[in-house]
Amino acid sequence: MNAELQKLIELQAIDREVLDFDRILGAAPNQIKAGQAEMDAVKKELDQAREVIAGMQKSNKQLEADVQAENDHMAKIKTKLTAVKTNKEYSAILAEVESVKEKVSACEDKELEIMELLEEKSSELPAIESRFKEEEKNFKEYKAKKEAEYERVKGELEVVKGRRQAILETIEPKRVVLYDKILKRNDGLAVVEVRESMCQGCFHRLRPQVIIDVKVGEEIVECSHCYRFLYWVEESETEDQAAPNQRSAG
Ligand SMILES: [Zn+2]
Repeated sequence: MNAELQKLIELQAIDREVLDFDRILGAAPNQIKAGQAEMDAVKKELDQAREVIAGMQKSNKQLEADVQAENDHMAKIKTKLTAVKTNKEYSAILAEVESVKEKVSACEDKELEIMELLEEKSSELPAIESRFKEEEKNFKEYKAKKEAEYERVKGELEVVKGRRQAILETIEPKRVVLYDKILKRNDGLAVVEVRESMCQGCFHRLRPQVIIDVKVGEEIVECSHCYRFLYWVEESETEDQAAPNQRSAG
């Protein structure tokens, strides 16, 4: 095989690694963000549950204070009883006492209602708390794992880029420019096999002379349709014809 073609195949293998690594690095921040969002959602639920409980506790304190105020009011009304002179005054005071009693009773009913709800809401809290703790723990682990992966891949990418640079220096610059152009246009595939008389990049059927030229491998031959560089692998052709779905690795 043409030596430069061999290098282009190597270069493409490296570029695929670069693409894979770039993909991993590009996805990591969003994956971490998504994990964080899941944890934040449970945190929000927990905060809201705590807020509801605090609100109910506050309402109950207010009701207690209201009951106290009404009881004080009642005591004052009762002192007035000693100074009562007429039946009319007496009736008015009794009516006032009734009204205060009603207010106290209403407050106490409300208090009881809130107490029941408070008990219910409080009993739900531990489950939410433990769910949040679990989420928090999972997220921390996930984030640490993702960050470690990110650093590892970043390091590997540097190594691969070094290998890319080294191989680039051995290929004719004009060829590299062409290769880059084809690679960008064709989704990361610039050098492809010829199999079953077809370019494996665009699946265009190749002329017999082109196939012979690729097989001989003296010159670099391009697909007339997609301009990808073509190469020949002897064993893949025979194996494919024998068993199309059982290509052996390597
Ligand atoms: Zn093609």
